Amino acid sequence: MSLTNGFAALERNGAVVPFDFERRALRPHDVALDIAYCGICHTDIHMIGKWGQQFPLVPGHEIVGSVSGVGPEVTKFKIGDHVAIGVIVDSCRECEPCLRGDEIYCRNVPTSTYDSVDRVDGTRTRGGYSSDYVADERFVYRVPENLDLAATAPLLCAGVTTFSPLRHWKVGPGMTVGVVGIGGLGHLGVKFARAMGAQVVAFTTSPKKAEAALALGAHEAVLSTDSAQMAAQAFRMDFILDTVAATYPLDPMLQALKLDGTLCSVGLPDKFELSAFTLAIGRRSLASSGAGGTNITREMLEFCGAHDIVADIELVKPHQIATAFERLAKADVRYRFVLDMRN
Ligand SMILES: [Zn+2]
Ligand SMILES: [Zn+2]
Repeated sequence: MSLTNGFAALERNGAVVPFDFERRALRPHDVALDIAYCGICHTDIHMIGKWGQQFPLVPGHEIVGSVSGVGPEVTKFKIGDHVAIGVIVDSCRECEPCLRGDEIYCRNVPTSTYDSVDRVDGTRTRGGYSSDYVADERFVYRVPENLDLAATAPLLCAGVTTFSPLRHWKVGPGMTVGVVGIGGLGHLGVKFARAMGAQVVAFTTSPKKAEAALALGAHEAVLSTDSAQMAAQAFRMDFILDTVAATYPLDPMLQALKLDGTLCSVGLPDKFELSAFTLAIGRRSLASSGAGGTNITREMLEFCGAHDIVADIELVKPHQIATAFERLAKADVRYRFVLDMRN
C-alpha cells in the first residue's frame, strides 16, 4: 500500500481540503491507475451535503488515467493503458441485472465508486478527487486512443446517463428526438442523438442556450417558455430525453410526444408534476433511467471513439474546487468541470 493524495470534505457541508489516505493493495483481478483527470458531477455536491454517509468523504466518479499496476489475474489491461472508472466499482455479480452487465441495477445494491463499502474488506470507497484508484478490472474501461483524456472524464457519468436511455429506447434514423435542458447532461444528449442519426430538437428556457444547442448539433431549438413554439411541437417527438433536475410542469413537454412516445427523465427531480390525462391522450410513457452498467458504459466509450464525441469542459485545478462548486450550483459552466489531478 502507498499513500494516496486526495481531497475530501472532512464533515457534512465542509470545504473540500487536502486529505491523504491509503488505497488497498492489488487483489488478483485489480487494476491500479494514476488519475489524470476527474470530472466534477452535481452528485458530488449532493454527497457532501445531505446524501453523504460517512466523512471524510473523497468525491469523484468520472475518473480517467493510465494503468500503473495490474494484479496477477488481470487479462484486459497492461501498464500504460488509458482507462476510466465510472459511478460503480463492484456489484453482487449474481443477480439478473448483474449477469447481463446491467450492474447499476444490481438487486443487492452496487458498490459506489465513493462513500460506499467495499464488498471484500469492508473499507470505505474513496473517489477520484485523488492521485490514484484501485478497482476490479470488470469495472475499468478502456478509453479509445483518439479521445482527449480530460474531455473523456464526464462521459463516465454524464455520458452514460444520457447514452443509456437513447440506446434503450432505440433512437436512430427516422426518429425525432427532443433533448430538454442544455447543460452537463443535455449537451451530451444532443451530441449522441445527432450521431445516432435522429432529428434532434433541443428544448431550453434560454435563447442563448438555444443558439448553443444548434452549435452542438441540434437540428432545431425550441424555447420551452414560448407557448406558441411549444404548441407547434405537439405530437412530434418519438422520444424525449429530459435532463432537468428541478420539478417543473411536465404536461407541455409530454404533449410534444407522439402516440406511444416516451419521455425519460434523467435529472432526478424530487417529484414529477403532470396530469395522467396527458399520458392517456397519446398512450405516452413517463420513464427514468440510472447511469449504466459495464456493458452500456463500454459501448458508449466505443461509440464516442468512433464518432469523436467528448464533453465540452472547463479544466480546473484542485484549489479551484470551491469556486467550481459555486458556479456549478448556478449552472454557470460550459458544460462540465473537470479536475486536473496530474502531479
Ligand atoms: Zn455523476
Ligand atoms: Zn447484482
